[in-house]
Amino acid sequence: MQGRMQDWPLTVDRILDHAASWHGDREIVSRSVEGPIVRTTYGEVHKRAKRVSNVLKALGVVQGDRVATLAWNTARHLETWYGIMGIGAVCHTLNPRLFAEQLVYIINHAEDKVLFTDMTFLPILNQIRSQIPTVKHIIVFAGTDRMTDEVPGALCYEALVEESSENCVWGGFDENMPAGLCYTSGTTGNPKGVLYSHRSNFLHTLVTMGADVLGIGACDTVLPVVPMFHANAWGVAFSAPAVGAKLVMPGQKLDGASIHELLETEQVTFSAAVPTVWQMLLNHLRETKGTLSTLKRVVIGGSAVPEAIVRAFRDEYGVSVTHAWGMTETSPLGTQATPNHIIAAMSAEDQLKYQLKQGRPPLAIDLKLEDDDGKLLPRDGHTFGKLMVKGPFVVGEYFRGDGGDILDKDGFFDTGDVATLDSNGFMQITDRSKDVIKSGGEWISSIEIENIAAGHPKADLAAVIGVFHPKWDERPLLLVKLKAGVEATKEEFLKFLEGKIAKWWTPDDVVFVDDIPLGATGKIDKKLIRQRMADYVLPTGAAAAAAATVTKALAAPPEPRIYAPESLVEAPAPVAFPDLEPTPAPETDLASLPSPEGLTAADFRSASPPAHQAKRAWLGSYLNFALGLALVPASIILGVAAFTQLGVISNVRGLGLNLLHLAPLMAQASLVTAALGVIGALVAGFRRHGMRALLILALAFATVGFFAWASQVLSRPAAAVVQPAEVRLDLTAPQANR
Ligand code: AMP
Repeated sequence: MQGRMQDWPLTVDRILDHAASWHGDREIVSRSVEGPIVRTTYGEVHKRAKRVSNVLKALGVVQGDRVATLAWNTARHLETWYGIMGIGAVCHTLNPRLFAEQLVYIINHAEDKVLFTDMTFLPILNQIRSQIPTVKHIIVFAGTDRMTDEVPGALCYEALVEESSENCVWGGFDENMPAGLCYTSGTTGNPKGVLYSHRSNFLHTLVTMGADVLGIGACDTVLPVVPMFHANAWGVAFSAPAVGAKLVMPGQKLDGASIHELLETEQVTFSAAVPTVWQMLLNHLRETKGTLSTLKRVVIGGSAVPEAIVRAFRDEYGVSVTHAWGMTETSPLGTQATPNHIIAAMSAEDQLKYQLKQGRPPLAIDLKLEDDDGKLLPRDGHTFGKLMVKGPFVVGEYFRGDGGDILDKDGFFDTGDVATLDSNGFMQITDRSKDVIKSGGEWISSIEIENIAAGHPKADLAAVIGVFHPKWDERPLLLVKLKAGVEATKEEFLKFLEGKIAKWWTPDDVVFVDDIPLGATGKIDKKLIRQRMADYVLPTGAAAAAAATVTKALAAPPEPRIYAPESLVEAPAPVAFPDLEPTPAPETDLASLPSPEGLTAADFRSASPPAHQAKRAWLGSYLNFALGLALVPASIILGVAAFTQLGVISNVRGLGLNLLHLAPLMAQASLVTAALGVIGALVAGFRRHGMRALLILALAFATVGFFAWASQVLSRPAAAVVQPAEVRLDLTAPQANR
């Protein structure tokens, strides 16, 4: 038996239908790419979105086809989204901050059929046009007056919309049909596609509308600074129309001054962005003595929010901060740090501790922590473990099955984050699993140190990475980008950390840099930092070498520039895309495209592994050789014993004789190589190589011991039982028998 309620597929076109029907006059304000502020309404956007659907149908787009957008947050982008999804096609948002070759990879992998673009991105599209053959049509968000022929054959958006009818039936398909496609930033291997369904997006919208999650309502004015190409603008492009909130779309101008202007003139009450955007806004407010007269709440996520930002919003501007965690794979919201009744009763300072955590899961999200062996870890607030997540808007499989089976036996997805859970259900990210610093077998959170260091009044940005250490395997290194015109010493920063972190977490060194690179979604690009610091040696290792190599490493980018993640970017600014090793070699013209850090894509591929990794790899090869050398005489012993038992020793006598002459010498040599292996392991990391080196040494000892014993036994007449008379040998002095 089934329930007796209506069958009402949860498809996202119904969200804009609802907004047009019940909040049709509510405004959508955009800072257009052309410059002027443009005003429209949900009612208008709904009509134009239907026209977009008809444009797509006329171009041959059918259900399931992928249609890409390369665009800033504007009303045009919003109507295109709904126009695509309404007819069952898949809206594939492209991140313009990727390298051209990454865009080519993603577009070809998705097999996008039509591509909508802002004029800003015409130069890059012109460059890659010949490499994206599946794209049959490029449609430029422009009026006929602005249309250019920069990309040959491109179509004019406004002309197409104008010519199309606004009569189009949306929906009518299964709610599990795909609605959107967004590629992960590919921190390991190629980027992978997350294919959202209508149902998953709809459920995500309902959940995020909750008072404890985004908590927006019809009276709010919402400014999503987070781009629609970054995990669905954290769902705001769905939840704002769902509740009938006024939407303010910032276009491409995301610098502090431009955002502040919109916040004030449009009387924004709610906004969402990554920490670096808010840092830019706060800097602007301080410089201009600006105020925030209507803003009540900001959601901050994408990376951990520094305490200084929460305090500044709270104490200087009366704005409350909701810290949230999520990922492309979770649609994206997974947790939010809104207080429960226990935390709400605490003092403001105690509440702050919880606000700085990533928070608790809303309905439909389940979390667990596991150790490397899959053992469930306690919610005690201090035990670190792998963060696993499960729910109806969490990825079940990547597009085209990339990456294989990605869920554990209970259906949980491994986020790649390392976290703690406390008794209030608050999760705190301590690191990405690949960034956690493993020092003497214990884990150090790089994020925790860098967040505290970033709060130093002289710091603009801070990053912490693990660097090879001969004794501890890895030790933390703090990199600091100072505020403009400020000077500081290493000691000042170490002193600042004192008492705020465990003593043994204190970085072994502090290096001041001109630039801390950020990745395509605005997060500190630790992979690039590690590459830049590949030759760096901690002072605790070799002081003199360090001084020389740091200078070299920091001089690597010719003109270091910070790439502000959500900041004003007039032209597409490709940034380092982590781990693209498996992609084919780039075309020459693309390889020469500079990244904002002044490096080319080819530089990233050819970057040599860190020095300590090379050292470890060398020791691994050496130990393989030592093992081989130790195994040969041992195998000869076993072989001769076996052949003697089988009575075939005389048949292989010639071979056996030669080998038996050589075996004792090899055994003695293997003793020396094995001993060197143990010394090597002591230098390059005993925890990693020590056991193997000791086993090889034991094998070599046993073999030499056997030969010593055998030579004694065989020198007696009775030994003839073991060796036939003519094979009687003095095993400790092979030359004497030749
Ligand atoms: P993306 O899929 O590009 O949005 O990246 C998701 C990753 O960003 C997560 O797995 C986390 O490592 C990181 N992340 C997102 N939100 C936060 C946060 N509030 N604090 C720390 N890390 C975060």
